[in-house]
Amino acid sequence: MSDLRYMRPELLEGIARNTLKQYDPMLIMGSEIRSIPIEDIIESLGLSLEYQFIRKNGRILGETVFDDDYVPLYNAASNEYELVFMERGTIIIDASLLRCRSDGRLRFTCAHELAHWLIHQELYCGSGDTAAMLKSVSKSSDVDKSIERQADMLGSDLLLPLCLVKKAFYRVTGADRIEYLAQQFEVSKKAMEIRLREHRLI
Ligand SMILES: [Zn+2]
Repeated sequence: MSDLRYMRPELLEGIARNTLKQYDPMLIMGSEIRSIPIEDIIESLGLSLEYQFIRKNGRILGETVFDDDYVPLYNAASNEYELVFMERGTIIIDASLLRCRSDGRLRFTCAHELAHWLIHQELYCGSGDTAAMLKSVSKSSDVDKSIERQADMLGSDLLLPLCLVKKAFYRVTGADRIEYLAQQFEVSKKAMEIRLREHRLI
């Protein structure tokens, strides 16, 4: 088994590319630039997406269920937590993110959770834990942090496949280039900026 705390960026890129290709090769090989249909890709893999309030304080944005289990969820109507049965392969997205669909956070959370499913099953299966995406990981341990960072990296590789980003990048010019590209890929401007910087395009 590889060291889960470190996976080469190239390996993560490869996993993302294969996942996208499996769904539709034209997504990354075609000349048309379109945003990655991350929710459809998740469902095409046999996973199910559930939109629920996870915590009252909104601190957990997404959670991936690796084993059939009861998961505590916040019921906004009764203002109480309930244990809800969730099947293995369910990705729970915090319903608060539905209100801000356009800012890229919902899509990024979906991609991050899919990343956990793709690379962290060995870590969580049978542990009774779920992989949760917290708004802030500052209180987590170092291992948690590196696992979360990996999921962020693979999430970004999934939403912003390098070959497609490059193709799009060289087609646009002008001062609002980054903003335009962010809109094209339906990600936040910050996510796009990080991606371009990582690959020294800006
Ligand atoms: Zn996570």
